[in-house]
Amino acid sequence: MSSFQTRRDLFDLPEGITYLDGNSLGPLPKSAVERARATMAEEWGPMLITGWNKARWMDLPGRLGDRIGRLIGAPAGSTVVGDTLSIKVYQAVASAVEMRPGRKIVLSDNGNFPSDLYMADGLLKSLKQGHELKVVDPEAVAENITEDVAAVMLTHVDYRTGRVHDMKAITDKAHAAGAIMIWDLAHSAGALPVDLTGCNADIAVGCTYKYLNGGPGAPGFIHVRPDLIDQVRPALSGWLGHQAPFAFDLDYRPGEGISRMRVGTPPVIQMAVLDAALDAFDGVDMTDIRARSIELSEQFISEVETGCKDVELASPRDPQARGSQVSFRFHEGYAAMQALIARGIIGDFRAPDIMRFGFCPLYNTAEDVSHAAAVLCEIIATGEWDRPEFKQRKAVT
Ligand SMILES: *Cc1c(COP(=O)(O)O)cnc(C)c1O
Repeated sequence: MSSFQTRRDLFDLPEGITYLDGNSLGPLPKSAVERARATMAEEWGPMLITGWNKARWMDLPGRLGDRIGRLIGAPAGSTVVGDTLSIKVYQAVASAVEMRPGRKIVLSDNGNFPSDLYMADGLLKSLKQGHELKVVDPEAVAENITEDVAAVMLTHVDYRTGRVHDMKAITDKAHAAGAIMIWDLAHSAGALPVDLTGCNADIAVGCTYKYLNGGPGAPGFIHVRPDLIDQVRPALSGWLGHQAPFAFDLDYRPGEGISRMRVGTPPVIQMAVLDAALDAFDGVDMTDIRARSIELSEQFISEVETGCKDVELASPRDPQARGSQVSFRFHEGYAAMQALIARGIIGDFRAPDIMRFGFCPLYNTAEDVSHAAAVLCEIIATGEWDRPEFKQRKAVT
């Protein structure tokens, strides 16, 4: 057994619910409620606009960036929080293609989250310089990194299956071909150890409402390697990325370091909530989280496969090749997931047939895993999923 001690008491998990969807939306950290209240009642209320200085609201994007930086192997001053992840993807790709003039390909894979592909494609089309978004199978990425590739843009952990890309090997390959390497850490930050510095990654982005528990709609983050940041021209050149926002110059001059990747006014209350949420990682070593996450996911796979022959593992069997989630295919996966949710076990569904279960050692326990596996097997054995109400598709799956 790993030595990791659960921090379940830090979270407000509803009685009777087994929550295995922290890979999609982390649960509420108890301290976040008080922090949100204090930010409103003790800062916004009495301080009004002076809160930007007195309560240091303006520093939140950089301070939070540094706290996340610790979890992803990024040095202080190289990560900043703001906007949504999709926006951060746009900024990353725009900067990357501009740093490699003459190269016309942005390479990604078909395991990537669609928004990343949509954002890159939309950007390349508006550039009107003949760029192409090339999307290949995940296994074919390395062989497609050629000298005409401006940027390789990949999500480290596949949102559907949990498959992990070899970050160091692909980054090395991209650099050998002269390309910029962009990593999306949406399913990695707070889930497994990431060593951006060790991999020499150029740009990384991610979101904070999944494993980092920042709350629905919490802002994304972007990291740029310190020796590159001075070459980055921010395509979204908002006033808060300006060198001197309050000089109100008519001309844009990029700010110092990573601050140039800021765009507009930060969402202070949501950032205060994220700040409180990140306390759950204080003193935590990501390698301990990883060891415990592997124990939980291995237990889940073993118990589900022992108890149920009608589902098929969609995640890599090798735990080292898998993130902190386990996915199973079932022909009526949507209905089965709805039946599970009706029994208080919350995972989610990704089309066409994938049931996803996320494991977060901060609050998930071996009992959660056993209970979820047992109920899943029961629902499938008895055909409990086969009811009309479980087949009504909701807007969010
Ligand atoms: C969750 C996720 C997103 C979502 O982007 P938002 O702009 O925050 O809605 C984008 N990309 C990846 C890889 C994701 O996992």
